[in-house]
Formats: sequence, C-alpha cells, structure tokens
Amino acid sequence: MPKPNPRHPNFPIPGGPVLRAKGWRQEGLLRLLENVLCVGEDPDNLVVYAALGKAARNWASHRAIVKALCEMEEDQTLLVQSGKPVGLLQTHAKAPLVIMANCNIVGQWAKAEVFYELQRKGLICWGGLTAGAWQYIGSQGVIQGTYEIFMRIAEKRFSGSLAGRFILTAGLGGMGGAQPLAGRMAGAAILCVDIDAERAEKRKGIGYLEHVAPDLDAALAMIDAAVKDKRATSIGLVGNAAEVYPEIARRGIVPDIVTDQTSAHDLVYGYVPKGMGLAEVKSLREDGQGQLMAASRASIVEHVGAMLEFQKKGAEVFDNGNLIRTQAREGGVANAFDIPIFTEAYLRPLFARAIGPFRWMALSGEEGDIARIDDLVLDMFAENRIVTNWIRLARENIPFEGLPARIAWLGHGERTALALAVNRLVAAGELNGPVAFSRDHLDAGAMAHPNIMTERMKDGSDAIADWPLLDAMLLSSSMADLVAVHSGGGGYAGYMTSCGVTVVADGTEAAAERLEHALTNDTALGVIRYADAGYEEALDEIAAKGIGHVAVG
Ligand code: NAD
Repeated sequence: MPKPNPRHPNFPIPGGPVLRAKGWRQEGLLRLLENVLCVGEDPDNLVVYAALGKAARNWASHRAIVKALCEMEEDQTLLVQSGKPVGLLQTHAKAPLVIMANCNIVGQWAKAEVFYELQRKGLICWGGLTAGAWQYIGSQGVIQGTYEIFMRIAEKRFSGSLAGRFILTAGLGGMGGAQPLAGRMAGAAILCVDIDAERAEKRKGIGYLEHVAPDLDAALAMIDAAVKDKRATSIGLVGNAAEVYPEIARRGIVPDIVTDQTSAHDLVYGYVPKGMGLAEVKSLREDGQGQLMAASRASIVEHVGAMLEFQKKGAEVFDNGNLIRTQAREGGVANAFDIPIFTEAYLRPLFARAIGPFRWMALSGEEGDIARIDDLVLDMFAENRIVTNWIRLARENIPFEGLPARIAWLGHGERTALALAVNRLVAAGELNGPVAFSRDHLDAGAMAHPNIMTERMKDGSDAIADWPLLDAMLLSSSMADLVAVHSGGGGYAGYMTSCGVTVVADGTEAAAERLEHALTNDTALGVIRYADAGYEEALDEIAAKGIGHVAVG
C-alpha cells in the first residue's frame, strides 16, 4: 500500500506487494518515477531539483509514461525523448525496458537562450541528472559526497577533525539541502543561507537542518557559541548570499570553509539576484529573462568576490558543482577559477578507481529492508573504513524521505557483489520486496563536464563527451533496465553530457545476470576512462581487478 507523504500529501509514497505493472521490472521503474516526485521540490510542476530538473515534460507525458509502464511487456522498450514518451517497441526480454535521451542539443545551439525557447515551445525539458531518469532519492543523494569533501578538507587542513570549525555555505534546495546535515555529521558548525524561507523550513521539517536563525547577528552568535564549545550544529539563515557573504567579510569574520550550492547555474530559473523578492523574480522569469540574467550575474560577481576574499584570508573555498565560478568569470571576475572545483580538489583519486555515489532503493517502501542491507554492507565491506564509517553515520543520522534508500561510495566489483547479494536476499524472501540499484550521473565514466566532473583532467580530455555516450551504449548492451543520456538544460546547456542507469533486483536469475553485466561494465568503463587519461590509481585498479582495458601504444 502507498504511504502518506507529509511533505507533499498529493504524492503518496509507493510501496507494498501489489503490482500495477506486468512485472517487477516495470513496477520498479514506475515506483522510482513516483518517488522522484514524492521527494521533489515542486512536484505539482514536475520539478524535482536544481531549479528546473523535471521528471517528465508535462503532465500529459507523465500520464502516458505511467500508462506505458503499466501496460508494457517485459520484451518491449519504451523510448523517452526529453521527458516525453515517443515509442513503445518490440525488443527482447534482455533489452532495457526504458531508454531515454534528455535535453541533448546540437553543439553550436546548446545555449541557455535556445533551451528556454525550446522549452517555451514545449519541445524539451531538462532532466537534471537524476530527475528525468527517475533516480533522485532526495537530499540523501549527494550527502555522502558532501560529507566526504568536508572530511578530506579536515584531513588536509585541520588534523582530521572539523570540531570547532565554521563552514559557510548557501542553498537549501533539493541537493544543497544535504549540506547542513553533512556538515553536522562531519562535526562542524555550519551556516546555510537561503533566500527562500520555505526551503529552510522544509529542511528543518525533515530533520536535515537544526535551527533557523532570525537574523545574521543571531546566526553568527549561534555559530560562535558552537565553535567555542566544539559542538556540531547546523544553522539556517534566510537571506541573499550575495548580501550575506560580503557582510560577513566586511565584519572581518573568516570562516574555515566556504562554498555555495545555490542554483547559480541558471540565471533565470535558479539564482535569485540581491534586492529582488521571490515574487518579482517569478514574474520576470516569464517576460524579463534578459533583465533577470544581468541582475543574477551582477549578484554572483559580488557573491564570488566575497568567496575570493575569504580565500585570500585563509579559508578553504571550493566550488560545489553549480557553475558559480563560470557565471562570475562571464561577469568579469577574471580570477574566479582561483577557487578549485570539489572533484579535482578532493575526490578525483576515488573517481579514478570508479568509487562513486552508488545507491539502492527499497521498492517495498519498508525501512526494514534498508536496515537489513545496511547490516549486509557492514558485513561485506568490514575492511573498508570509508564505507563502514558512512553506513554507521547514515543509519544514525539520515532520516528517510520517500522510498527508503541508501547511498554509499562503492567501486568496481563492490557494487556488483552487493547487488548480487541483495538479489539473493530478495529471492530468499528476507526482504519485503525487490530493490532498485542506481547511481548519480556524477560518476567516473558517466559524466563529461569540463567545469565540474572533468575539470583539469591530467591529459586535457575535459570536454570529450564520448565517455558518457560509450557508457550508455555499453549499459544498453549489458541488459540494464533503464539507460539515460542527458545534457545540460537552462544555464547548464552546452556544459555537460551524462549517463544514468538503473537495474531492478527482483530476486530472479535474470536479474542477477543484468546486475552482473550492467554494474560491472559501468564501473569498468569508469576505470578505463581514468586509465586512458593517465591516472595511476586507475592503472593500478585495472591490474588488481583484471579489467579488460586495451592499452594502445
Ligand atoms: P534547487 O533549485 O533545488 O535549490 C537552490 C536553492 O538556492 C533554492 O533553495 C534557492 O532559494 C536558493 N537560492 C537561489 N539564489 C539564492 C541566493 N542569491 N542566495 C541564497 N539562496 C539562493 O537546487 P539544488 O538541487 O539544491 O542544486 C543546487 C546547485 O547544486 C545546482 O546548481 C545543481 O546543479 C548543483 N548540484 C551539485 C551537485 C554536486 O554533486 N556537487 C549535485 C547536485 C546538484
């Protein structure tokens, strides 16, 4: 039975043993589609996260997708083009059930203005990374990534601990909302600025944010007290980061760590310029896009100016994947790229071994299934300190949203081993239902994004989009249930290409075969991508795990 969803009462959380589709593979994908709206930011408008990332093009498309998933046979494949179903074709039972291409615009045309025009005509929608591919699991999806960044900084700069350290950030949206909890889990005192009071209250309501301060003075006093006591805490502040950051700098306060996760990638639908109310911004989105773009960029210039000032005074400052440096540079901040990107600065050695954000969702809707898999992970990866530390922290601190889910950074072979073990638990009736496996698009072989994932690659291959395309073709040949190729929409147009994958573990032998091939080949491609770029970690991984890399020359 579906469960009530306190956050969005019109979008109940799917679950239970009753199938509406003709098999668990189709039902699983249907539940994931429902889930991205359950945990999304604005489900009435199909918006999942990142300003514009949508689950489907429009409600008519959504209804048609649901109908197709319910009626399709296991040997058919549904084709989705930018959130609209366009074909249901005869393939075979080992082919993907769903293949999709979201928001891919030909190079010279891939610009925000062209995207907005195509969107206005109803021809396209942005799938985000995990929104249009029905893989978003709420703020938890990025939380381990954010936590690991903070811990890498702790090791690099603060003798391994963030106790008594002050993190300043902004953005409490679909993904940014993970920051207060990640910061608190890392032991820091974290201040999160968001212009929208509703977003701050939402994060507080679901247990990701502890307090919302009435004003900046109170917020800084709360941070100060926590820093002195070396107490972990998360404080929200309603305000514009383009005003708050410069004001903190003006007062001579230097946080230990500074970043930002506002939707700076989109100057129209994401970032809110200083001095403008939310209602005014919303009205300009329709008929004042040029004005809004200019105003957002001018604010980002001030916002990044303050970040650079903090950096100059010794703070650890990084870009958390929202294109804010790029926007600032376009606005004339020539040294915006003095701020490093998180991937290159902290996580590349993990990505080079294809260790990245793997995730699983209990399609039964039962939290007990995730608890059972947590135990399994602790048992299977007892020697892996990153994983065991994370699972213990996560089960203690992360509240479930929507379908119960878990994320853990696992690598080549590890993902397959876990998924096969879970598939056996499903077969043995030890779980209440099947489990879907997926990962973020920000994964080793799955994303080309020269200002985020692939910035400053060792061999200069930053902008080559062949890898995610190869990944998608490989996954389709490797029996994945859903394969998606995405490019950027809105302000991300022209900046990225990525690939997503989902496989449903329904306890059958056929599922075991799909999991084995799809998950193994996905990370193999990731390792090969980094080996090809000359990363030693990847070459070691190839030798250690016998990955089929063809070395040329
Ligand atoms: P979102 O649209 O759901 O939320 C953005 C938030 O920023 C909103 O709450 C909005 O009120 C706030 N905001 C906008 N302008 C502001 C301003 N000037 N001052 C203060 N607050 C402001 O977006 P999201 O899903 O949270 O994603 C945020 C950004 O992070 C996006 O650019 C997204 O692409 C990026 N992202 C990065 C990663 C990663 O791996 N690091 C992952 C996912 C998303």
